[in-house]
Amino acid sequence: MSKVKYYYDSETLSYKKIEQKKGRRLGIILLSITGSFLGGFILLMIYLNIPQIETPKEKALKRELHNMELQYGLLNKKMDQIQDVMANIEDRDNNIYRLYFETNPIPEEQRRAGFGGINRYKDLEGFDNSKLIIETSKRMDVLTKRLVVQSKSLDEIAELAKEKGALLSAIPAIQPVNNEDLSRIASGYGWRTDPFTKVKKFHYGMDFTAPRGTPIYATGDGTVVRADSRSTGYGNHIRIDHGYGYTSLYAHLYKYNVRRGQKVKRGDVIGFVGSTGRSEAPHLHYEIFKDDQRINPINFYYGNLSPEEFDKVLEKAQRENQSLD
Ligand SMILES: [Zn+2]
Repeated sequence: MSKVKYYYDSETLSYKKIEQKKGRRLGIILLSITGSFLGGFILLMIYLNIPQIETPKEKALKRELHNMELQYGLLNKKMDQIQDVMANIEDRDNNIYRLYFETNPIPEEQRRAGFGGINRYKDLEGFDNSKLIIETSKRMDVLTKRLVVQSKSLDEIAELAKEKGALLSAIPAIQPVNNEDLSRIASGYGWRTDPFTKVKKFHYGMDFTAPRGTPIYATGDGTVVRADSRSTGYGNHIRIDHGYGYTSLYAHLYKYNVRRGQKVKRGDVIGFVGSTGRSEAPHLHYEIFKDDQRINPINFYYGNLSPEEFDKVLEKAQRENQSLD
């Protein structure tokens, strides 16, 4: 490896080998080894102490990471807002809607339950930002579940509202004849003098005095189950089945405006006032049945009476007079 070097000896006029001393060679070797080490050490120090020296790619990645952390922060803030809105909806759901439709509120633990069992976030573990990402994912999952619970609750309420709506329009809730000044109430439910025998007898309905031919209205939605005169005393009469256990009866009619089996809505004209059957003068005898028991119709006019008008009706209906039967 080492080249043999010569020099020109001017005395002998010949080339002579340059003999290197052993010690000097060793010195050079040691010096170069030390130099290499020193050089390497300096480079290592530079590398360790000045990490600012980044490649453009590293710089870009770092910027991207910073931006991602920033976006996660914003997402979490937005999630805070959504959680507030959600809590408000849940509160209304429990304390207004579910209460109004007489169903139990959904317990808090059921609404806010996370996901148990297997660790769904395992794939997200082992990174510098794992905690941030896992926490955000967990919040998102809980929020999603709350939305599902809320959505189911609203479906349930929609069903209940439909039923309640049907019930409300079925129950008899108006007066069966036009009675704006309330002057038509002749006799109420209770013990009254019988117009024919003049003896006290329980009067199971309410009498509205009106000229023959005055329109009679269905007091709630339902089906006409009877429109005939085959019932002692009532003369021409109509029975409407309203469902939910309610039936209304209209007696002493002059004429029918409906037939058996016909569906009617509240306010439909079903017939006209007359004096057929056991009746002293033209009037409408009106009864309400609940589960086949006759009850006082006085409590069923809330559909179109103010509190003052109701007091007036009550006063008139309670008079212990003679019924028109
Ligand atoms: Zn009567």
